[in-house]
Amino acid sequence: MTQEALTQERTWQGTAVSSGVAHAVVHVLREDFDEPDADPITADEVEAELARWHIAMDATHREIEELKEMVSTEERSAEADIFDTHLLILEDVSIRKHVEKTVREKLICVDAIYYRLMCKHMDALRGLADSYLRERFLDIKDITHRVMRHLRGELLQHPMFDDPVIIVAHDLTPSDTVQLDRSKVLGFAIETGSGNSHAAIIARSLGLPAVVRLHGITDELHSGDPVLLDGDEGALILNPTPATLSKYRSREQQAEKREDALHETRHQPSVTLDGMAIQVCANAEFVEEMGDIRDSGAANVGLFRTEFLYLEDPEGTEDWLADNYTRAVKIIAPGQVIFRTLDIGGDKVDEQLASEQEPNPFLGWRGIRVSLGRRDMFKRQLRALLRAAAQGPIGIMFPMVSDVGEVRAAKELLDECANELSAEGYPPPQQVEIGAMIEIPSAALTADLIATEVDFFSLGTNDLVQYTLAVDRLNERVADLYSPTHPAVLRLIALTVEAARRAGIRVCICGEMAADVEVLPLLIGLGLDEISVSTGQIARVKHAIRKLNASECRSIIDACRHLGCPKEILGLSRDMAHEMYSDLF
Ligand code: PEP
Ligand code: MG
Repeated sequence: MTQEALTQERTWQGTAVSSGVAHAVVHVLREDFDEPDADPITADEVEAELARWHIAMDATHREIEELKEMVSTEERSAEADIFDTHLLILEDVSIRKHVEKTVREKLICVDAIYYRLMCKHMDALRGLADSYLRERFLDIKDITHRVMRHLRGELLQHPMFDDPVIIVAHDLTPSDTVQLDRSKVLGFAIETGSGNSHAAIIARSLGLPAVVRLHGITDELHSGDPVLLDGDEGALILNPTPATLSKYRSREQQAEKREDALHETRHQPSVTLDGMAIQVCANAEFVEEMGDIRDSGAANVGLFRTEFLYLEDPEGTEDWLADNYTRAVKIIAPGQVIFRTLDIGGDKVDEQLASEQEPNPFLGWRGIRVSLGRRDMFKRQLRALLRAAAQGPIGIMFPMVSDVGEVRAAKELLDECANELSAEGYPPPQQVEIGAMIEIPSAALTADLIATEVDFFSLGTNDLVQYTLAVDRLNERVADLYSPTHPAVLRLIALTVEAARRAGIRVCICGEMAADVEVLPLLIGLGLDEISVSTGQIARVKHAIRKLNASECRSIIDACRHLGCPKEILGLSRDMAHEMYSDLF
């Protein structure tokens, strides 16, 4: 490839899931290992470096021989042939010579030299018309992965960065995300996923641009490549030219102006034109977000997803948890922090806890089910929360509630913890409200029963939509069917609000649809008391609330009653939104 081709601008189009623009080099997280950095070595280290590589190559050889042995039956001779091909690639003399020579000449670690050479071979094969030869690309990829895995003993599993980077990955799990050095990450470019995955939610919380469905980019990009990531339009631009950068700079300046204007009004109350007050609160995943939340105009923290702190250290002690929760409470007091107890499971997996893989994790051991099944772990969290409550008002809400019995069982444990702490001499909590997340249709349908046990409801529409419509929130194949404005979802929300009204408790919505100002007229029309969104959206949502009439919003709910199509319902709400606050679009 010519130098010109290597530095040419190239654009990939994906789906924008978190807005903003970032310009930096990428760090590619491979499916099962990181692309190695080109770390320098000294001339004295060359022999040890090559010995390390030979050990990895030998280990890979043995591994493939064993696999070949396993499938060496008559019926599976085709599979055995594949492993012969792999052994040929592994033993290729020209590859071995090239790696040894390059490590000696360039004095760069063998991981980077070997990996890049194999990538070159893969690139060459991938473009070929002949499908047989194209398939060999997969063979080389397989071998490369195996060798790299054997070398990985020397690689950092969770890289630290000296300079800011944009993370490129096939998939990014919540546990990957918490292990990254967040102070250096400027954005996420992901091959799979959707706007409802927790990685996307985290990106929005941290105010970082994120683009998903960028198919094939982990094969096309290498760590160190300069890119521009556009989280508004869903584009990833490799080697952006000066003209592109200047176009983006002026766009950014305009966006900054708009944001500054909104920022000025962030502390104004969020009351509709006809006098209905709606609290706007913040969603958070990390204690370090609390400072920004305090300054964002948010009334309270409406949802603190405690599982991210847990994933940082699953063995964390009660003291460690209490310290972290207390820090959050102190920053937000006299405002309230609503802590959601652990919602492990689904896409937030703790390998140790879930010792075996579940066939349908979102329908499996998740949320309150895990907490009630792991009493000691649950009590550790509840005790830490009650200890933090001595420093300011908190809420404790339970995720994935499917019936009132789970809430009662959780409250019994909470009482037990409160009694223990009092006997142990801990200072009493200030104010602790209890809430249930309504995110499973069975909870919405029995909201009247659950309401007798709690002080508030919080609608988790990210899950309520997936469980109501049988549409996996992460599955891009069915992403078009994921419709928060489906009449079934709106009816479940209406039932929940009605049950809350009867019981005299408040209802909040903390799912991602709450931040979509195009559906805000529907949410106000349905009668929600509180809206909880990521910090970056607070000023925008408050601004929109101030432009709406609650009575007009109620009339679109009436008009929707006979509409069956989510798009039509969205259309009515969108028209009102664009008429009342066109400046936001
Ligand atoms: C939800 O389901 O809407 C919610 C807020 O919880 P999570 O996205 O963490 O599942
Ligand atoms: Mg949920």
